[in-house]
Amino acid sequence: MIEVKCPKCSAINCYKQCYRTCTAMYYPPIYENGVNINPDGNITTVVCQCTKCNEIFSYQERYGELYEQC
Ligand SMILES: [Zn+2]
Repeated sequence: MIEVKCPKCSAINCYKQCYRTCTAMYYPPIYENGVNINPDGNITTVVCQCTKCNEIFSYQERYGELYEQC
């Protein structure tokens, strides 16, 4: 699971997701010896609200991992 920290009260992974937006680029699979070497590189922006202090913040994820928190 991605570890997301509230920028205001520093609570970790205490948030609800408000909405997600995606860059929605199409990454056509490229197979080399049966392995897809062109995985989905879309960056998803997740806007969430801290359940402790109600701060609204967002983070970005890519390849199922935390890409950048803003
Ligand atoms: Zn908070």
